[in-house]
Amino acid sequence: MNRRKLVEITGIVQGVGFRPFVYGLAHARSLSGWVCNDAHGVTLEVQGDEPALDDFLHALTHALPPLARIDRCTVTDRTVLPDERGFAIRQSQPAGDACACISPDQGACPACLADVANPLDRHYRYPFTNCTHCGPRYTIIRRLPYDRPATAMADFAMCPRCAAAYRDPLDRRYHAQPVSCPECGPQLTLRGPDGRPLAEREAALAGAVAALRDGALVAVKGMGGFHLMCDAADAAAVARLRALKRRARKPLAVLCRDRRQAEPLVQASEAEWQLALSQARPITLMRKGKAALAPNLAPGVPYLGLFFPYTPLHQLLLEGCDRPLVATSANRSGAPILTEGEAVLRELGHGLDLLLD
Ligand SMILES: [Zn+2]
Ligand SMILES: [Zn+2]
Repeated sequence: MNRRKLVEITGIVQGVGFRPFVYGLAHARSLSGWVCNDAHGVTLEVQGDEPALDDFLHALTHALPPLARIDRCTVTDRTVLPDERGFAIRQSQPAGDACACISPDQGACPACLADVANPLDRHYRYPFTNCTHCGPRYTIIRRLPYDRPATAMADFAMCPRCAAAYRDPLDRRYHAQPVSCPECGPQLTLRGPDGRPLAEREAALAGAVAALRDGALVAVKGMGGFHLMCDAADAAAVARLRALKRRARKPLAVLCRDRRQAEPLVQASEAEWQLALSQARPITLMRKGKAALAPNLAPGVPYLGLFFPYTPLHQLLLEGCDRPLVATSANRSGAPILTEGEAVLRELGHGLDLLLD
């Protein structure tokens, strides 16, 4: 016998691939209905025979997409609609009193990093590659519900291939709001300390890499704001960075390309490596190892704060530099991180060599 249920879910369910997940579950069980984002989370109605519905509801709460989290799920009976066919993903309802949870920014997933490394993929070496399971979220959202026009990506019109991926419920980039590629998305610009543009795209990246290898101090726009970066083995560069940041002695974190590059620098347990390499890419404190970096990096403490690239841009930078880099938030000690290139140049430009925007 057919039944129909209304399901209302709150938690981290927007911008994490939740609607295509629901679509897939319903489709696989030949259930009809619809799903949409609203100001509180996700709402759906689903209809079909009872065993399939029970199975659907179990899977809904037990096989979540990697970044999703359910805080509350209420299920209510509804009147069966005898003529309904198929399952649809509906347009978001405009926000009333918006109170949905937003996912934090997420480190690049292995599939996206593979695209960036693949010369045959259209995202090859594109520093802003992302998908439904990774990339910026909180940083780019201006209002709810979370849809592209409500993000910092609103000004970037998708190219036909990105638009096709965005519309295909079976694509890894379905409804990934920041989806973009070299043809349609944001691009890198390398600027001098006076703000003058020096290079674009791949040449901007190459210019930043060459300067960092040469001991320069470079501000790099990351996911949540700018970092100050320099060669972690170059004591003179680290001293300049400390003076600019007005941070005399507090330890600075080090960004490493991968575990192999980091291993000589620290003595860490397997659990510490797993934590450092998890998708959130936290700065992880590890006991210092035999190989030493600049002595003024973390003076007088037995630990080193280490982290790994969390965007394709950081991955490309670290591959190019082929050495560990200091990466610390671009701000005076104690002040909030700077998120706009102009502000970085205004406050720190006198002591910077370059800015990768
Ligand atoms: Zn991804
Ligand atoms: Zn595109």
